[in-house]
Amino acid sequence: MPPLIPVLLNRFDPHSISAFLVHKGILYYSISKPGPTESPVTSLIRGICEEFPLKSLSITRERIHTTHPLQGICKGMIKVAAKRACELDLHDFIKFLTSFEGGAFEVRPPIPLPFRNPDVLVGSMAPRDSIPRHLTSLLYMASGRTRVSAMLTDAVGRVLAISWSRTHSNRAAHAELELVQNLYADGFTRFPDHSTLWISLRPCAMCAAQILAFMDGSEGFKIRFLADDPGPASKNSCLFEGSALWRSSGCPKVDIALVDN
Ligand SMILES: [Zn+2]
Repeated sequence: MPPLIPVLLNRFDPHSISAFLVHKGILYYSISKPGPTESPVTSLIRGICEEFPLKSLSITRERIHTTHPLQGICKGMIKVAAKRACELDLHDFIKFLTSFEGGAFEVRPPIPLPFRNPDVLVGSMAPRDSIPRHLTSLLYMASGRTRVSAMLTDAVGRVLAISWSRTHSNRAAHAELELVQNLYADGFTRFPDHSTLWISLRPCAMCAAQILAFMDGSEGFKIRFLADDPGPASKNSCLFEGSALWRSSGCPKVDIALVDN
């Protein structure tokens, strides 16, 4: 047995079983406790895309193994940035690892980036009737080029958080996902009551699953998007009323609407 594997197995416990995949003789694994914004599978995918931006396309083509149930966010992220995953029971999971001969690499999820220019952006006031224009101007001011952006405002229109997609360097780093990761890193476990999430594009299946998980328990939460995405990624999401994923998520009632920009 290679020396790395027993070390790896010693770190496992039933509450923090990780996900792994094997690519060209290297075991890429992630050990993380599931939470409202993270699962072992999402940690693994996000970490690989962050750590190996050029090789990530071929690495994430391999089958991901996990003992943790595949939640909506895992399935969504697999659609966006990976290929396939399967659930293994603990016995098979350990058997697979103990018979493995090769190198191993621990993948850690990326650390959330701080909001850019927080003095200017976070806390600034977005007048209710001009929020879409405000969002667009913030987007151009901060990124200088067109990217998907997401902004969270409170009940009176103050900007609580803002983020942009970083898909040029990490395929899984969509704006909404980044925003939720940042909020979680700041101590939030759900969207604040009566807050509104503004997105420049209708969310894809991955982001929709993340938003749905993070809005659990939030009162009066609203989603407004500035442009419709006609692609299948957003049409079959848990936030698209009538879609298969919406039905399998229990037909959630969500206040989501396109804003006439
Ligand atoms: Zn997305």
